[in-house]
Amino acid sequence: MRRTDKNILKPCWLLLCVVSLSCLTTRPPCVRAAEQQWKAGVASIVITPKDSMWMAGYAARKGPSEGKVHDLWAKALALEDAYGTRTVIVTVDLIGIPRPTREWMEEQVDARFKLPPAALLLNASHTHCGPVIRETRYSIYGNTVYGLSPEQIEQSNRYVEDLQRKMLRLVGRALDNLAPARLGYTHARAGFAMNRRSKTESGYRINPNPDGPVDHDVPVLRIDSPDGKLRAVMFGYACHCTTMSFNKFCGDYAGFAQEYVQQAHPDATALFIAGCGGDQNPYPRREFDYCQQHGRALANGVETALSSQAKTVRGPVKALLETVTLEFAEPPGREQLREKAKSSDKYDRRHAEVLLDELKRTGKIGKTYSYPVQVLRFGDDLTLVALAGEVVVDYSLRLKAEIADSAVWVAGYSNDVFGYVPSLRILQEGGYEGGGAMRYTQLPGPFAPSVEELIVSRVHEMVDKARTPARR
Ligand SMILES: [Zn+2]
Repeated sequence: MRRTDKNILKPCWLLLCVVSLSCLTTRPPCVRAAEQQWKAGVASIVITPKDSMWMAGYAARKGPSEGKVHDLWAKALALEDAYGTRTVIVTVDLIGIPRPTREWMEEQVDARFKLPPAALLLNASHTHCGPVIRETRYSIYGNTVYGLSPEQIEQSNRYVEDLQRKMLRLVGRALDNLAPARLGYTHARAGFAMNRRSKTESGYRINPNPDGPVDHDVPVLRIDSPDGKLRAVMFGYACHCTTMSFNKFCGDYAGFAQEYVQQAHPDATALFIAGCGGDQNPYPRREFDYCQQHGRALANGVETALSSQAKTVRGPVKALLETVTLEFAEPPGREQLREKAKSSDKYDRRHAEVLLDELKRTGKIGKTYSYPVQVLRFGDDLTLVALAGEVVVDYSLRLKAEIADSAVWVAGYSNDVFGYVPSLRILQEGGYEGGGAMRYTQLPGPFAPSVEELIVSRVHEMVDKARTPARR
């Protein structure tokens, strides 16, 4: 997918043809100049449902949405390096990215814009105040026992079809808007995310744990025009987007943070990337004031990062997307499931019914999960690792410590949000993120202990492939 801008690059290519390998590693001036030649384009679109809809995030909700606090947005940042290699990052104020939506988008952007799958990153803020998406009779909200009528499932599917078309148009608009730009990486901190796994006599419970690991980093990619005007700010944070649980559409703290950054910089678009916040909650919570305060705290973190000297981010960009086959622990047998299907707990009962149905339809229960891992490496200046699912904070802390040769940004909630991804520590500790939450999904049960190593070792292999030849 490389296009060459002949006017800019021809002298460089001629030079590259005659310089020796040692000269390549020292990067002649025209190569250094090319590394800093970017084009960037941004676009935004409102994705708030027009009508009242059932809302995602909490199985215990009793009724559909009642209006909105502010709009939900999808936003796209398109980047093109000096060699014409393009990547597009799409962020949405939604609970997640359904895998079928990812697959549909991959096909469409490839067909329409010649953008390969590896160059498309989709990330969801995981706000729990958005609509239900991609529900079926097997999923938690889609099961009529828990409230959704067939009409409501149909409404949700229609919403997703409309969302997909909007996201596709958005990618096209961001690519149309490509214009010369400078990229800079900077970061700061925000402190409201708190570990939510508290040890009790009956196992781990969701409660603030002041001693548990956190990642308070606020990574920021700033996009400026060549004359120094701020055009876009992409920022991240590792924390569940769950300050609120009310029945109004709202981007929660991430929605407010984007709003505040855009208010402070009216010519710029702010995009939020959810980090490895699977085991992190915003505290305190459940009061609307807190939601805005957390948004303000995060926006202040972004502002602090913007006021410090950003590190120039050079190209070329290298995008990789691979799937890792994750293993589940041995699933329950037919008899065990039949017993569980009689449980007085409706969630256990539904989970058993879903798995029994899978047994009936396919003759077996799946034991593996095809897990997408994406790496975007910008020269040797910035490595953006995008992991699928609700990734716990151990992953970002570990990967940032282990990938030492560039700035490292680890996103969770990317490309396929299907359930929790525990580290080995959390898997062994158990509790909600360790495997307990699997009963709300269609997956058989906890992952096998190999989960962390399979993901981390693949990330390392991919980062190595994405390094420039000089660094490999
Ligand atoms: Zn979650």
